[in-house]
Amino acid sequence: MAVIPCANPECGVQHRIINEADHRHFNDIIRGVFYCGYCEQATAFQIKGNAANFLPGRLFQEELADDVAEEPRAMFAEALLCFYGASYSGVIAMCRSAIAEAILAKGIGNRKKPLPDLIELAKNAGLVDTLDESTAESVRVLGRDTLHYMRAMTPTEGAVALGAIAKVLNNITKRTPPPA
Ligand SMILES: [Zn+2]
Repeated sequence: MAVIPCANPECGVQHRIINEADHRHFNDIIRGVFYCGYCEQATAFQIKGNAANFLPGRLFQEELADDVAEEPRAMFAEALLCFYGASYSGVIAMCRSAIAEAILAKGIGNRKKPLPDLIELAKNAGLVDTLDESTAESVRVLGRDTLHYMRAMTPTEGAVALGAIAKVLNNITKRTPPPA
């Protein structure tokens, strides 16, 4: 029987997945988000066969570095939850926010600036290189398509965006802007 522990380490709730059909195919994969009724923590999960595993970041080639700032980390976590909740437009929207938060966390720009301006400022400050810039731009344009023109994002677009943006966030984190 699969058990999903609440991701909040201080909560301790273990949600049991019961009602497993005997005829369930062993290779069935179920992904979703468990919202804990006790503490309201969201926990992304994946169940394959009878085993549950959580936030399987290994699906993505690049993992978020430990020193990425709190705000971009929170946005990236939301993007992951969207992915496991099968909202790929949400993934793109949250990836866009994560880029903006990572740049702001370095003291570059302000919240009134639109994303293209923030990316430009970050480039001028040496926080993003040409490859990062084109990745950030791609996600920005995907976001424009899905948020303004209602184009549905595919699982592949969501997965690629997560891996690519993790790398950009890591790069922004490890670079230092020149003194003002
Ligand atoms: Zn909980």
